[in-house]
Amino acid sequence: MSKSAPLFNRLALIGVGLIGSSIARAARAQGAVREIVATAQSAATRRRVTELGLADQVVENNAAAVAGADLVIVCVPVGVCGTVAADIGPHLAKGAIVSDVGSVKGAVLRDMAPHLPGDTHFVPAHPVAGTENSGPDSGFATLFVGRWCILTPPAGADPSAVERLAAFWRLLGANVETMPAAHHDLVLAITSHLPHLIAYTIVGTADELAEVTRSEVLKFSAGGFRDFTRIAASDPTMWRDVFLTNKDAVLEMLGTFNEDLSQLTRAIRRGDGEALFEHFTRTRAIRRGIVQIGQDSPAPDFGRSHPDLPVEPLPRPYAVSSDD
Ligand code: NAP
Repeated sequence: MSKSAPLFNRLALIGVGLIGSSIARAARAQGAVREIVATAQSAATRRRVTELGLADQVVENNAAAVAGADLVIVCVPVGVCGTVAADIGPHLAKGAIVSDVGSVKGAVLRDMAPHLPGDTHFVPAHPVAGTENSGPDSGFATLFVGRWCILTPPAGADPSAVERLAAFWRLLGANVETMPAAHHDLVLAITSHLPHLIAYTIVGTADELAEVTRSEVLKFSAGGFRDFTRIAASDPTMWRDVFLTNKDAVLEMLGTFNEDLSQLTRAIRRGDGEALFEHFTRTRAIRRGIVQIGQDSPAPDFGRSHPDLPVEPLPRPYAVSSDD
């Protein structure tokens, strides 16, 4: 496989969990950068990143990681993005592009921007791809293939910096779209954040019915419940931060959801089969639309492939949908 000329000289990764380690693996596989410098919060993770050989250099702190980097990607939970920006701000190279991967964009923009010097380019991003797993072992090079990466550059951002970052994500296999941070947060509240909240609720409710849960629910767990348990296994820190930082959009969507749930409840109570059938027919069409645009497969397991990326074993379970 022929690699392209590197788009960046030195990539600094702050945080090497699922997303950071997948970026490292994909950037390596694609020759997207000449060199990767990485750091993480704990010595244990930094040691593991070294053992896995994910970076050319693993350094002890955030400030050291960004020295001389022309691309910095902050891959930490949304709630600590501001602290990390304060750590790295004074040490950034002139002209560096600074980005992140957070699942919420308004809060990241608000918390990071004040710490970044005017001679750097801040272009927040969210790769809409993931699994319920965390840590450097859980990443894989094909995670972003065929997935969307949403860029939310602030007003006045340098278009050439935005385009350079877009080119980086495209090289990793992603499709790129640009939108305002507030719009991103509203869209993701319904497509990702609310589904996670519902999964956390259902699995929690089933667990409260302890007698059933310990026996029949687990034993007979059909596709629906199994999928919910997978989503509800997502990282507690990441998802706590998502709900704390995207509070308004989630509450707005939750209001609409509760109204719709009340309507379905009423239809069941009244034995209104026509209303139920109509509703389920509409939602079935939405599912088919998602399959048609290639964001999922009709097969039970969604196998990803990309002609330009090496095939490597995908961790299980990785299938069906992204926990982003
Ligand atoms: P993860 O696997 O838990 O990894 C988080 C990493 O951040 C770890 O390496 C952690 O280090 C490091 N970290 C935490 N605080 C730090 C600090 N103050 N300074 C330096 N490093 C720090 O998380 P992830 O799933 O990759 O998620 C990272 C970001 O991606 C989140 O903002 C999330 O919203 C976003 N995202 C996640 C998904 C998904 O499906 N998981 C999808 C799209 C976007 P230690 O291991 O030492 O604690």
